[in-house]
Amino acid sequence: MTFHLAGIARPKAPALMLDTLKEHLGEHFDIAHSDGQMTITTEAGAMALTVDGEQLAIALAAPSTEKLQLARTMLAEYLFYFAGDDPLELTWAEPPAPTAPANLHEVRVVATESVTPHMLRVKFACADVTPFIGGNMHVRLLVPPKGRPPVWPVIGEDGRIKWPDGPDSLLIRVYTIRFVDIERGEVWVDFLQHPAEGTKTPGADFARDAKPGDRAAFLGPGGGAVPEAEHIFLAGDEAALPAIARIAGEAPAGTRLTAIIEVENAFEEQAIGGAADLDLTWLHRASADHKSLAEATREAITGLDSETFVWIACEKGDIRDIRALLKNRQHDRRKMYVAWYWERDSIA
Ligand SMILES: Cc1cc2nc3c(=O)[nH]c(=O)nc-3n(C[C@H](O)[C@H](O)[C@H](O)COP(=O)(O)OP(=O)(O)OC[C@H]3O[C@@H](n4cnc5c(N)ncnc54)[C@H](O)[C@@H]3O)c2cc1C
Repeated sequence: MTFHLAGIARPKAPALMLDTLKEHLGEHFDIAHSDGQMTITTEAGAMALTVDGEQLAIALAAPSTEKLQLARTMLAEYLFYFAGDDPLELTWAEPPAPTAPANLHEVRVVATESVTPHMLRVKFACADVTPFIGGNMHVRLLVPPKGRPPVWPVIGEDGRIKWPDGPDSLLIRVYTIRFVDIERGEVWVDFLQHPAEGTKTPGADFARDAKPGDRAAFLGPGGGAVPEAEHIFLAGDEAALPAIARIAGEAPAGTRLTAIIEVENAFEEQAIGGAADLDLTWLHRASADHKSLAEATREAITGLDSETFVWIACEKGDIRDIRALLKNRQHDRRKMYVAWYWERDSIA
């Protein structure tokens, strides 16, 4: 069954908005674009946009009402983001009810445990863990201010998420669901305790201070699943380690995995793997003859064939160079996931 929803967007220049969407989203979604018409195919659903005089006629189609809501929110967020400071009106045939987003899951801390000296696992109880099994691996973690009951976001009239502000503002950080314990109804997240002298690290601190019963929420999952390919090349640092561990644990037998993971030292290594064949190299940042992740990754990429799925996540600056190299090699964008997971401070 397919669910439909129509909408009207009035951006400053409708045709230009389509060009902008294509330029920025083309790397992430399949987009068909010609003569003032565009269809963006996403996991939530299909979004058709047609230039109609001064406006864009929108037609959304999705396999469930939840996905339809997600598709609407996704498109609304993109339209307003790309409109920037220009005026934009966005209305829907059925205006959204001011309820929580369909993919908001309230969770409570059950326990914390050390995985390595700098990796802390937080186990969360969640009423329904099924959305986190398989599929997309990442979530936005929402943490209410200490000592205040949480005020969760709702969907606004234009379809965008309306975030609580002022004293109810939430801490928002992106993390990976490392493991789902179906029997216990738990989802586990591994938080790197990264040192940042003189700078606050609210996400890492949430895990460090977490106590059983603490409330939080996940928005998601989204942002990338375990890739399907005969050969997968994986590279990343500690922030990517939970995702790499999950891919190594879930990739089916017969898959060949080549992985490079950079950690501080040997104490930060973890036992990872599953049914797939895994050829894993650990790099130690603290070692004197250390080869950097960026360097090792660039070297490895030059030896990869065009069928290999390339999965890389690390610091923003390093990702920029790696993307350029893959683009230069004309690696098919459908056979790669290259994402920055954190940003080094610009002020050293
Ligand atoms: C899709 C996705 C999945 C992710 N999954 C995980 C995960 O499972 N586990 C995990 O630990 N992280 C993960 N991250 C990375 C995490 O979101 C960032 O590290 C985030 O910045 C941490 O927030 P914070 O509040 O601790 O620090 P921030 O407030 O963001 O930054 C404070 C200071 O710490 C520095 N910093 C931030 N992150 C790091 C880091 N990783 N290493 C070194 N210095 C850092 C910053 O440069 C800054 O100086 C993921 C990111 C993405 C996009």
